[in-house]
Formats: sequence, structure tokens, C-alpha cells
Amino acid sequence: MVRDTLSRPLGSLRISVTDRCNLRCRYCMPEQDYVWLPKESILTFEEIARLARVFASLGARKIRLTGGEPLLRHDLPTLVAMLSALDLSDLAMTTNGLLLAKHADALHRAGLRRVTVSLDTLRPERMRERARSDRHADVLAGIAAARAAGFARVKLNTVVIRGVNDDELGDLIECARGQGAEVRFIEYMDVGGATGWTTEQVVSQREMLERLAERYGPILTVAGDDPSAPAERFRLPDGTTFGIIASTTAPFCRSCDRSRLTADGTWFLCLYAERGVDLREPLRSGASDEELRHVITQAWTARTDRGAEERLSVAQRGALYKIDALRADPRREMHTRGG
Ligand code: SAM
Repeated sequence: MVRDTLSRPLGSLRISVTDRCNLRCRYCMPEQDYVWLPKESILTFEEIARLARVFASLGARKIRLTGGEPLLRHDLPTLVAMLSALDLSDLAMTTNGLLLAKHADALHRAGLRRVTVSLDTLRPERMRERARSDRHADVLAGIAAARAAGFARVKLNTVVIRGVNDDELGDLIECARGQGAEVRFIEYMDVGGATGWTTEQVVSQREMLERLAERYGPILTVAGDDPSAPAERFRLPDGTTFGIIASTTAPFCRSCDRSRLTADGTWFLCLYAERGVDLREPLRSGASDEELRHVITQAWTARTDRGAEERLSVAQRGALYKIDALRADPRREMHTRGG
């Protein structure tokens, strides 16, 4: 297993299959238009699968498909089938759910085993206002279709923002329970497209737990989960579980085994990294698997990144990037490097 300078293994890879999205969430992709990755630079399914195989051979056997919106990539089940033939320990996808009802069956049949759906609110009017979409019902239908297709452990991702949806924590837990799903509350992060980010809008893990304890009573930590998983899990008195990803107030860089591959084959070793490693160039200029393994191993063994922890020490913290900086290098966007 390949380890970095802090002894963190190369354990999981998030693959962004497209930088396009059909939502315009204010905390991620607030602009109408973007500088998109050139079409010819987008990796083919064969190229993605080859890189995934090379990564898996170095220990990255947990793969998550993301984007942008991964279901906008035409014929995604074909890529899923190619990836599920590899020696992986986990193959998952994060989606906004708009197109999930249509594709859930085919994805499950192709070998996808876990799906996470982003659901920030139970109120359609809030989704209309915050993500510029009238398709709230499609997201709920997507969650139900995933369960019906056989996805056993559907997760819901909710980015919690003060004054926006922080009054819905309990209701989202109830909704998830009703759907046989589990919700993960994500602290609002200052990454990529979050150009309007302020500390005041962040609802910390501690505050979320205090608020939920007021409604439900004492909350216990769930012990024994994978220590490299981003979410810490909790249990309500009635046994219902949920998770919190405290990446802003209590980052978990020390156990971070995640890296990210953009749709154009740029590999980022940290969500906050300024630059990535170009894997498309060697891939397309005939590098052997052994040569690709060498490039990846060299970069990972030199990895020192602790991006989220370093952000903690920034005085008067604001958004990481302004829109001009994002336009100058679209790979800085969350939707390009993959959330
Ligand atoms: N389109 C898919 C979706 O909506 O799930 C996948 C890509 S999206 C970038 C992946 C995840 O990143 C989503 O759950 C989204 O809510 C989260 N995300 C995006 N911007 C964020 C931010 N500023 N803070 C915290 N989470 C964020």
C-alpha cells in the first residue's frame, strides 16, 4: 500500500465524470455559466477505467463517481459496469437525484452498490430559490427509485447553512428514516464555488448536535466505523442513526485517504490543493501501467496536504476563491474536481 508523508494510505478515489450540472446551488455553482473543460480533454470511459485499475492496484479500491452531476454523463451504467469488473472494495456515486429515477435500475444492474443523494431541503420553494430548480419531486422520486432498485444503504447529503435550512435538521432525519435512508449533515465549506461563504453561515457539528438533542434527547456516538470515513455517525435515543461531516470546524485531514480525479484527468491530492497532477498527458501519450503507477506513487508519497486544517488557522476567513480566480482556472471549482 502506498503511503504519504503522514502515513496516510492511497485509499479512495473520487472520479468526476463531468463538470456540468443541472442545478445551480448557491453554495457550489451559483453562476449561470462557467468556463467548461474542453470537450476533447474529457476522459473516455476506457481511459477512466484504465486509471481506476491502476489506482486500485496501488490500494485505492474505494471509488466514488461524482461531478458536476454524474448522471449527465451519457450512458453512465456502461462505465459502472467497467468499474465493477475491477478489484474494488466499494463503488458508490453521489448525485443530486434529478435523473436518478430514470437510471437507478440500470446502475444497480451494472454493479453500483451505494448511492448518496444530495437533498438540502424538504421544501420545494427553498430548492427553487437556492438551486434554481422546480424539480424537488424528482429528487424524492429518485431516492424512492434507488431503494426500489435494491440500493440497500442510500445516504442523503445535506449542506447545512444558517438561515437557509438549519431549521430542517430533525425533519430531514425523519424524511430519511421514512425512506430507509440515512442523512449526513455537511458543514458549509469555503471551497471552490462557495464564493459567498462566510463563517457566520456555518452551523458547526456541536451546534447541530445541541439542536437535535433538544428535540430528541441524548445523542450517542456510533463507535467502530471506518476511521477514514468523513462522517462521524450518531444515534438518537430511538436508534435512528445519522452522520455529520465536520470538515469546516473539525477537519479530519490526519486520516484523509481521498484524492480526486477531474473529468479531464487532473488528479488532486486534496480538495483544497492549488494544483493537480496531469494524468491525461501520460495516458494519451502511451505510458504503460507501470509508468502511470510510478507517476501516482511519486506524487502520493510526497503528499503533505492538510488543506482543511490549514484553513482553520486563517484569520478573518472568507471564501477560498473569488469568481475571477475560478474563471482563471476552472479546476479550482468544486464541481470540476468533484465533491
Ligand atoms: N451533483 C452531485 C450532487 O449534487 O451530489 C455531485 C457533485 S456535488 C459537488 C457533491 C457534494 O458536494 C454534494 O453533496 C454537495 O452538496 C457538496 N458540496 C458542494 N459545495 C459544497 C460546499 N461549499 N460545502 C459543503 N458541501 C458542498
